[in-house]
Amino acid sequence: MTSAGPVPVYVGIGANLDDPVQQVTSALRELAALPQTSLTKASSLYRTPPMGPPDQPDYINAVAALETTLAPLALLDELQHLEQLHRRVRGAERWGPRTLDLDLLLYGDECIAHPRLSVPHPGLAQRAFVLLPLAEIAPAVTVPGLGPVSALCAAVSADGISRL
Ligand code: ATP
Ligand code: MG
Ligand code: MG
Repeated sequence: MTSAGPVPVYVGIGANLDDPVQQVTSALRELAALPQTSLTKASSLYRTPPMGPPDQPDYINAVAALETTLAPLALLDELQHLEQLHRRVRGAERWGPRTLDLDLLLYGDECIAHPRLSVPHPGLAQRAFVLLPLAEIAPAVTVPGLGPVSALCAAVSADGISRL
């Protein structure tokens, strides 16, 4: 389906290296400046325990609400370009430390299964560090196949997470 107007999308932001608060703050600014895109809302910043290997610093997480006319893969290209601007280095370790992670959580109500892009983001429903900021700015949004964000959020533990 092609849609005429801008599509509401949500991007999960995470950082735990090289001044993560600054990384996330500048990522929000950079998201707002993407072509064909506007930033409609930004969540608070959250300090969260690492999900992967435990021997890494805590994360700073946030979620941005955007409206865009970029197609999903074009938006992913832009997000990956921003990760590179932040000098993200992909190590061998899954979920290892990083200067910036930008994950496309939701693209309108679309379900996308592409080798480079799965939407809704597969980890969304299990991750409190995504659901808390998402519910803060979009409690009524529905995750295709899974239901309202507010209900998903109520089902995860917020232990160890603090809102800055
Ligand atoms: P996770 O996706 O579990 O949060 P991660 O963010 O650490 O892990 P990355 O190394 O950032 O994973 O990305 C690995 C690959 O995931 C990317 O090359 C990208 O093509 C793919 N990918 C699939 N779906 C998405 C999505 N919704 N948002 C961002 N990247 C995605
Ligand atoms: Mg991620
Ligand atoms: Mg990622």
